[in-house]
Amino acid sequence: MFDHIAQPISYQHIELSSSVHLDIKRLDLVHPQISGNKFFKLKYNLLAAKQQDLSRILTFGGAYSNHIAATAYAAHLFGLNSIGIIRGEELASKPLNPTLAKAQSLGMQLHFVSRNEYRLRDDANYLQKLGHQFPETFIIPEGGTNQLAVQGCQEILSEYDLEQYNLICCAVGTGGTISGLIERSSAHQKILGFSALKGDFLQQEIRQWTKKQNWSLTDAYCCGGYAKTSPELLAFIESFEAQYAVPIEPIYTGKMMFGLFDLIKNNYFSEGTRILAIHSGGLQADIRNKSHQ
Ligand SMILES: *Cc1c(COP(=O)(O)O)cnc(C)c1O
Repeated sequence: MFDHIAQPISYQHIELSSSVHLDIKRLDLVHPQISGNKFFKLKYNLLAAKQQDLSRILTFGGAYSNHIAATAYAAHLFGLNSIGIIRGEELASKPLNPTLAKAQSLGMQLHFVSRNEYRLRDDANYLQKLGHQFPETFIIPEGGTNQLAVQGCQEILSEYDLEQYNLICCAVGTGGTISGLIERSSAHQKILGFSALKGDFLQQEIRQWTKKQNWSLTDAYCCGGYAKTSPELLAFIESFEAQYAVPIEPIYTGKMMFGLFDLIKNNYFSEGTRILAIHSGGLQADIRNKSHQ
């Protein structure tokens, strides 16, 4: 399956009336289904499951989770069974949304749990219980972030990227992707993360995966929280897509671009800065799409 990755990954130059140079690395195009960063996060996890002779992958997510969608597809391609622990027991009695319907059609077994149970997703006792309930199973945390994911995300950056750019930008959810980019980056580069959610706790998460310090994180463009939007964000996305013909979405990549363009407009970066923005995909569950509401 990992041979199917579109190589080399394409770049798109964004023409700006500014003295900084901006290219987008289109991870959204690496694979039609397992788009973006999730592909890199899953790679070494699936290989590890195979190596340990486990026939099943289990992971966690919300009803629109890109990680659930990617895991269902990747497990299917890899010949592994998959189980999705989905937040919200009330969903069990409702028609499946497109993300979950697709996951189920790829063979993922969906288990809907209450919000209280879902909160235990990182609790050692709970994970042990799940291990008994579902033997022979490789468990991947919510959002797919673990050491193997950080290892995989290092492969997002090529030798060329290390040489060509001063600044690398990405959207941040659980921090696995940015941690891989930081680990791979060279000392002259800075990594700037645009958080999709509010709060400083993510800094701690990232420090768990990397000791390097050439990075920073802002939640100034998260519009109040995860999956929250603002009229300004939505207007920005619409005009960005119309002008550059690059699809983005309001949960992750839209907030990154919104923030990046704002910083560029306010001359935050010095003249001649060469910026690489990572398009991490996520287009499968665009919350603006009517059918998802
Ligand atoms: C999951 C996701 C992210 C966040 O990645 P983390 O490794 O959890 O920080 C960013 N962008 C998109 C499109 C995603 O689906």
